Amino acid sequence: MNRLFIFDFDDTLANFSMYNSWVLKQPIKVLPHIGGTIKGAVEVLDFLSCGGDSLAMLSMNVVLDNELKWKKLKRVGMDRWFNERNAFFVRHKTSESILGICGKREKDRCYMVGNSLDHDVFPALEAGIHAIYIPRPWFISWLPRRNPKDERFHRLTNISQIIQHYDGL
Ligand SMILES: [Mg+2]
Repeated sequence: MNRLFIFDFDDTLANFSMYNSWVLKQPIKVLPHIGGTIKGAVEVLDFLSCGGDSLAMLSMNVVLDNELKWKKLKRVGMDRWFNERNAFFVRHKTSESILGICGKREKDRCYMVGNSLDHDVFPALEAGIHAIYIPRPWFISWLPRRNPKDERFHRLTNISQIIQHYDGL
């Protein structure tokens, strides 16, 4: 429907990213990668792209070099939707980096999807676009936080709900 969805990578599209980044950094490859895509992520990316929406990825990357960060994406099959044109790696996610991806689009048709209030939700709301917050269950339990009061803030319990709630987002 001609919206833009900007996805966070770590713990929004892919599991155990910190561990897997660390494995990629090791000079000797003895440890296995674990996990893969988050349940439902593939279906959501297909649903959005088949429906005519645009996809982008904004990922925080401080540890991996250029070759390894693409390797990390490819390992979980994300190169099917993301490439040099729509995947962005930054040291910090800011409202400026988000607005840079949105370009000239109407802000009301842009969505940042992520599992972090600090790194995904707040920069998106500051940029004036929608924020879809999908916290991981283990994360909520030990760090209760208050949801931001903003009509562009949407909290979902899993990524598949993007399909169920699509019209109301
Ligand atoms: Mg994340």
